[in-house]
Amino acid sequence: MPVRHSLSPAIVNAAFDALELDWSYVAFEVAPADIDAAIEGMRALQLGGLSVTMPHKERVAELVDRCSADAAALGAVNCIVRDGDELIGENTDGPGFLDTLKSDLNFDPAGRRAVVFGAGGAARAVVLALARAGAADVAVVNRTRSNAERAVALAGSVGRIAGALDAVPEADVVVNATPLGMTEGGTAIDPSLLGRRHAVVDLIYHPSETPLLAAASERGCAVANGVGMLVHQAAHAVQLWTGLDPPIETMREAATAGAGTDTHKR
Ligand code: NAP
Repeated sequence: MPVRHSLSPAIVNAAFDALELDWSYVAFEVAPADIDAAIEGMRALQLGGLSVTMPHKERVAELVDRCSADAAALGAVNCIVRDGDELIGENTDGPGFLDTLKSDLNFDPAGRRAVVFGAGGAARAVVLALARAGAADVAVVNRTRSNAERAVALAGSVGRIAGALDAVPEADVVVNATPLGMTEGGTAIDPSLLGRRHAVVDLIYHPSETPLLAAASERGCAVANGVGMLVHQAAHAVQLWTGLDPPIETMREAATAGAGTDTHKR
């Protein structure tokens, strides 16, 4: 994905400014063939940290010296932290998702039922996070069964592959982790299945209101878009790099300002 329109420099530099750190966060576009050299460059330049985006997350998990439990389970790294001469691979997407459930929807997944549409990188982080947070049921609805199987395995005994018609009516929280509603029209989830009992999260943050969220709001659901996860995963990265409490509201303002312009990629 081209990073020249990334929102992350605005979000993270806003945090560094608020924390009065003389640090700078810069986006570099790295071709797949160059990712090994890029990580060697990080070592040589002694950079304090890196964010990693698609398509590099899985290769970077093999290039760092060790991975956190989440990054190891996912086989994917979205954040590298330097610890002396060692590079530690972290994955802050799942914690960022749980934070948005709490801060935007006041929703605690412990003992609750979830359905996740999609089984790509974002969906896998969400499935693992929901299971780790004690969800009673994590159903995955996805076009390609083999990808759904890979995602469901992360949830252990509470994970299952499901169809939308079965899973949505009995769910407490419904998550769209497909790109449907972003560049392509339509929704992955039939809004007629949704009602007031559902919390609905669309991981898409541009547009800020997807067709799914508009329809879910009309049907009385509590809704959240992907800005919260974007901000909170970055906040976890800032905390890992600096050891300081991230200024969440400042970061959210920077993300919201950026998401409202044509610069809208992570
Ligand atoms: P990905 O790895 O490419 O996975 C995409 C998933 O969507 C796959 O499961 C794919 O199904 C499914 N899908 C794609 N097109 C579809 C279609 N036309 N009909 C039905 N299913 C379809 O992508 P990702 O990195 O997980 O990202 C998914 C979404 O989350 C994107 O919109 C991305 O912007 C968003 N995201 C947001 C955040 C955030 O911080 N807010 C973070 C990461 C991602 P198959 O398995 O069948 O191919």
